Amino acid sequence: MNIKLKKILSQLKVLRSLKARIFIIVFLIGIIPSIILTYGILENYEDRAVSVRTSDVQNQLNIIANHLITYNYLTDTSSEVISAELEQISNLYDGRIMVINSGLKVIKDTYGTSEGRTVITESVIKCMKEGTGGSNYDAEYGYIEITTPIIETAAADAAVGNGATENKEKKKDVVLGVMLTNVSTESINVTLDILSRRALLLAILMLVAIFAIALLLSHVLMKPFERVAKAISEVKEGYKDEPISVPDYLETEHIVDAFNELQNRMKVVDTSRQEFVANVSHELKTPITSVKVLADSLLAQGDNVPAELYREFMVDIAEEIEREDKIINDLLSMVKMDRTVATMNVTVVDVNALTELILKRLRPIARKRDIEVVFESKRAVTAEADEVKLTLIITNLVENAIKYNREQGWVKVVLDADHQFFTLEIEDSGIGIPEASLEHIYERFYRVDKSHSREIGGTGLGLAITRNAILMHRGSIKASSVEGEGTTFSVKIPLSYVNA
Ligand code: ADP
Repeated sequence: MNIKLKKILSQLKVLRSLKARIFIIVFLIGIIPSIILTYGILENYEDRAVSVRTSDVQNQLNIIANHLITYNYLTDTSSEVISAELEQISNLYDGRIMVINSGLKVIKDTYGTSEGRTVITESVIKCMKEGTGGSNYDAEYGYIEITTPIIETAAADAAVGNGATENKEKKKDVVLGVMLTNVSTESINVTLDILSRRALLLAILMLVAIFAIALLLSHVLMKPFERVAKAISEVKEGYKDEPISVPDYLETEHIVDAFNELQNRMKVVDTSRQEFVANVSHELKTPITSVKVLADSLLAQGDNVPAELYREFMVDIAEEIEREDKIINDLLSMVKMDRTVATMNVTVVDVNALTELILKRLRPIARKRDIEVVFESKRAVTAEADEVKLTLIITNLVENAIKYNREQGWVKVVLDADHQFFTLEIEDSGIGIPEASLEHIYERFYRVDKSHSREIGGTGLGLAITRNAILMHRGSIKASSVEGEGTTFSVKIPLSYVNA
């Protein structure tokens, strides 16, 4: 039931608006107490008016009851005075008085219709028995029924008259009869009607006022949020130099702070994307320009180009094309890596065997420059990793160690592990990296010495790709170097892959 209700509520789009909710809450908080108060007061008025009327009439009736005794009315109803009194009261309160004797017979009825009849209602019998009066309000028919006992106090002198000495001390009340009175409450009802009408009018006025207040409040309270939405949608058209600010509420401030932070981050991403596009186009253009220059100058030579010159130019052109191919390949593998962040193909990899294999493949290249490649394994390491990406990491780092080395230099690869991580250190005796460049080498297209790197076929993308692959394994990479002496890259990767 509850779930169903929630479903219906969630489907009512209006109720999902905070503005509508504020309006409803304020409206209900305003209107419910006013309604309760109005009807509470009216109800209270009715109770109070009935009880005042009852006690008024009761007082009068008590006085008449005494008179009835005095005039001995119960045995002789001829007293004009009493009859007049009874008429007067019944007229005054728009009611009917019946005087009933101890035989439950009506001896006087101000309506004159029930005289001589016997009355055996519960209230009359009770009053007769107990000698206490009572009242009962009938709201439906609009009258109050009052029973008043007619009591004769057996006074001391009366007792003396009887000559019974034991009655002297005991004053005994004797109920001689009952007055059954019905009093109309019409006048109370008329007043109640007038009051109700006024209350209704007041309630309508209040309803309108509270409606207006609720509408105004919901509008005013939501204003800052609307300002936030407006400020954010303005940003859609283009980044703003100034951070947006809506300091009205702590809440809006928090939203805006988070948004500004996001905007700053997006600005950084955007700038680096622009830089990257500029770099890519530049890098891709360079070999093409060279090819064009080479081809143009070959054409300019006319028809009788010596075959040697022709070959020489062709070799250069082929080199440039190879370079272009390398840049494109690196770019493709980088894009692929970006796109496959979620698709890590993790298996259990024998890192020792993998490293051996890679070094075996790279040794022929190293041998060309008489560089010795050594592998030192401190222990057998198996790790959960993506084998293709791990191959790429090791290959790139060892390739660099060979590329940026001197003739007859050396490269040393050290593999070690503790209970949590394995570490690979790739040390070389090469040209080293200047201190200031160390923090930039992982940036795309960054090269310490552009012309040297270009000479040996670098694209500046290798370390960016490598670092990315390491981060995907939740690992880290560090480089330390002494210029002219060599460089050490340390890679640290968890033995078990954490998919977080
Ligand atoms: P590249 O394709 O030019 O080698 P990388 O991203 O692999 O690009 O490396 C970026 C730059 O860092 C290189 O151009 C080079 O200047 C420097 N570098 C990388 N590895 C080494 C190393 N082992 N010794 C010296 N310099 C290095």
